[in-house]
Amino acid sequence: MLGNFEYKRIRSIEEGCLCLAEAAGKGAVLAGGTDLLVEIRNGLKSPDILIDCKGLDALNAFHVSQSGSSIGASVPLNRLIEHRGFHTIYPALADALISIGTYQLRNRATLAGNICNASPAADSAPILLVLNAVVDVIGIEGVRAISIRDFFTGVKKTTLKPDEIVTGIRLPERSDLRTAFKKQQRIRGHDLAIINVAGAYSPDEKTLRLAIGSCAPTPVLLDPIEVDSKDADAFASHVIEIVRSSVSPISDVRASASYRSAVLPILVKRILHELLPAGGGA
Ligand SMILES: Cc1cc2nc3c(=O)[nH]c(=O)nc-3n(C[C@H](O)[C@H](O)[C@H](O)COP(=O)(O)OP(=O)(O)OC[C@H]3O[C@@H](n4cnc5c(N)ncnc54)[C@H](O)[C@@H]3O)c2cc1C
Repeated sequence: MLGNFEYKRIRSIEEGCLCLAEAAGKGAVLAGGTDLLVEIRNGLKSPDILIDCKGLDALNAFHVSQSGSSIGASVPLNRLIEHRGFHTIYPALADALISIGTYQLRNRATLAGNICNASPAADSAPILLVLNAVVDVIGIEGVRAISIRDFFTGVKKTTLKPDEIVTGIRLPERSDLRTAFKKQQRIRGHDLAIINVAGAYSPDEKTLRLAIGSCAPTPVLLDPIEVDSKDADAFASHVIEIVRSSVSPISDVRASASYRSAVLPILVKRILHELLPAGGGA
């Protein structure tokens, strides 16, 4: 049973923000509904009103290019994944999005919904963190551009105010970056991540950025790591040490804390081998 709530298909963002403000914390934005409707059905959320933005053209638009991209909040994941240039320009983001649920689910689910749901295991979060994405938001007080680094504040919590709507996600120009995404799940096929890791290496700056999901209350972005080692094994140990000290895995239905701790270095090493010349050695 989904319970009782009002459903409103809005005709402007401003109308949506006003509705959310009037609902005083009891409103929710409906995108694909693949998280929200499940949570309502399971009694985890009980909004009085759902605000459906999918009819707004501006939120259904996206633009992908080497010099920076913007992805409207209502764009279903499959539209991105099936765009000709998307996989070429953002291979690791495409890998992360393809790993989300099933094809049918990705016909509904959105990138905005994935981050606004703020699961520590959200598959798009680590790669958006290493790409330094920006979340565009409108509320009754105006417009905000929030760095993805500041977006997640806890399990299922974000910095969004109750009247704010995400309008889109921007990816700054970083054509020099090499990126990779790795996900460990319980089964082949579709499953939430036990751990997900994304990396971005800048050959120009010789720095590596890593972000880890499902090992702390929020996805974790590490400070940039300088890649100047002559010894790949020593560099990997150094990186794994930094990673270990930055996360706090717990046991849950998907895996134990000790399993997560054992798998994490393996995923990190795979990222290093994929991204760095000689795995970070000379
Ligand atoms: C069977 C199944 C498998 C799944 N597998 C995966 C998986 O492998 N990996 C993964 O990461 N996730 C997975 N998910 C979770 C979910 O599909 C994704 O998080 C998806 O991207 C959510 O997008 P949505 O558009 O459906 O969001 P919705 O469910 O519509 O919304 C999610 C949350 O975001 C808020 N929200 C949505 N849009 C906005 C906006 N524009 N402004 C403000 N708030 C907004 C909603 O109010 C809600 O709180 C799975 C879910 C199911 C049911």
